[in-house]
Amino acid sequence: MGLIDIARSKSPWILHFDAGACNGCDIELLACLTPVYDVERFGIINIGNPKHADVLLVTGTVNKRSARVLRNLYDQMPEPKAVVAIGACALSGGVFHQCYNILGGVDAVLPVDVYVPGCAPKPEAIIEGVVMALGRMQEREQARKRGAA
Ligand code: SF4
Repeated sequence: MGLIDIARSKSPWILHFDAGACNGCDIELLACLTPVYDVERFGIINIGNPKHADVLLVTGTVNKRSARVLRNLYDQMPEPKAVVAIGACALSGGVFHQCYNILGGVDAVLPVDVYVPGCAPKPEAIIEGVVMALGRMQEREQARKRGAA
């Protein structure tokens, strides 16, 4: 494992996008940053620039307006990157899935690495989702390097 891989696994930078949530999932996600859970002590930092992000955390349903923004953010993130869908709405459209403007869950637009179910999921589940996403990123990066060797 190279220095950059070690640094990334020890201090992943996350980008949060609300694709159309009721804000319930967003509140639980933000709770991860409060002193109670304090994920920054593990090196997990919430940032606003997709070009610096390792993990994209998406809450809410994907609708016709948010789909293009979501794809745009994802495309700006450098490889390796991972996507975590948080909450029933991000998984499948949830309670909004029959609305006229809903495309579905995040995987209607992007490849999703980890699904965190719940309405809304607890902060512990969200933190576990980020850890699982790091594992997926490492697996993919190692596979890529084996393929290049
Ligand atoms: S999963 Fe529940 S809490 Fe989260 S955005 Fe949907 S309705 Fe709100």
